[in-house]
Amino acid sequence: MSRTKRGIVATVPAPWLLCTLLLLFLGACGAPTQKTIHPRGPEGRKIFIFAVDGVTWRVMDPLLQQGKLPNMARLIGSGASGELNTIVPAHSPIIWTSIATGKSPFKHGIKGFWYTVEEGEHHASQAEKDTLDRLRSIGYISGPAEGKNGEPAKALYHSGKRKALALWNILGRFDMRSDVIAWWVTYPAEAIKGRMISDRYIYNRFELATAERGYLYEDEGRNVYPEELKSLVEPLVVKVEDIRPEQMQRFIRGPVTIPKAITLHSIEDELRIVLAKDLSYVEMSRAMLDEEVPDLFTVYIQGTDIASHYFWKYLFPEEWAEKYPDAPVSAADVERYGQAINEYYIQADEWIGELLEYADENTTVVVLSDHGFETGRRTSKAEPAAHETVSGVHSKTGPPGILVMHGPDVREGVRVSGAHIYDIVPTLLTVLGLPVADDMDGRVLRSYLKSSADRVPADEASIPSYEPEAR
Ligand SMILES: [Zn+2]
Repeated sequence: MSRTKRGIVATVPAPWLLCTLLLLFLGACGAPTQKTIHPRGPEGRKIFIFAVDGVTWRVMDPLLQQGKLPNMARLIGSGASGELNTIVPAHSPIIWTSIATGKSPFKHGIKGFWYTVEEGEHHASQAEKDTLDRLRSIGYISGPAEGKNGEPAKALYHSGKRKALALWNILGRFDMRSDVIAWWVTYPAEAIKGRMISDRYIYNRFELATAERGYLYEDEGRNVYPEELKSLVEPLVVKVEDIRPEQMQRFIRGPVTIPKAITLHSIEDELRIVLAKDLSYVEMSRAMLDEEVPDLFTVYIQGTDIASHYFWKYLFPEEWAEKYPDAPVSAADVERYGQAINEYYIQADEWIGELLEYADENTTVVVLSDHGFETGRRTSKAEPAAHETVSGVHSKTGPPGILVMHGPDVREGVRVSGAHIYDIVPTLLTVLGLPVADDMDGRVLRSYLKSSADRVPADEASIPSYEPEAR
């Protein structure tokens, strides 16, 4: 495909190509060989996506009823919302990549957290080893220094493994700018039309998890694109060690002391790591939006998922007691930790409210999660400590997440069902007046949209693919 200003020339489907070649020879061909696609949305149409991991209506509905999520209440009240069905295994890297591409893992290639590293594919660099040694020496990580014997080397999936275009790549072809912040599997940061901060820019629990398993954690690649963005966002990094007890007391009732070391699967440490991460990315979002509001803005918030993993049994103690009578939860712990999940939802609502200040009436706002949660234990040979502290799970059953949409083309005040993670990209392309690609696995969520969203004539509403032939 070649790009023109705010338009691309669609790939010629193979049968037409044959027809063209044949009929050029014969001197006549009825079908157009190529056509230029232009977005048909009104100029200035924008999209904001708040990617909030693990959010479920089960937690949200009571908080909405109590008036504790005013920003979500406004979006839901004058927008369309419902469950967002997902896939199993419900692992965040797989699902968020499916949301961003509109494609199944078979097509986009991100199949889990870890991939087996082929010979010569990755070598732990000296810088990487030095980072791990430093973290170990200050007590931040305790895992083995080398890969475990006999196991093939593994590493976290990275953006180079993704085989399908994400929404931000497609929009770039139409000269639209995207700011993408902390989305899963965006390390190393891609050179997109717009700006990107990768999901590994901020210290996160997967550095610990990787070390714990003796896998490779690559961090020498580009974390920020373009490079100049660093001067804006680097001063906004909130370090884990900077989180104060008062900040933790929003989520935890009673005195909080902050240990020097960080331990994976220690519930207060997990909360502290993710709070520093989310605070950093939200601050960066604000600074970037202050400079310029792009055509697509998206930020990923992880604390709602982490809080749900580690504090679920304190929010639903009766359910836990019924399922695991052998492991009772004390009333004191319910008192201390019972509000952590709710408070993180309220915190996320505040962040969304602050960033919504930058969205105008031409903006379609999407709030979504990759999956919900249910009561359960986690059993992992690689991370045995999780068995004792994880009480909320989602991987095996994939309980649905949430989808909330609000904007000029979105129906008002309706609760609808049947949405799937694959449907997000086709639906947003439609809102922007762009064709959906036949090789995407989702469909346009008509039940969420007003008829005004249909700007593309039926015969131009789809193209075979946005993927370059080489992919
Ligand atoms: Zn999770």
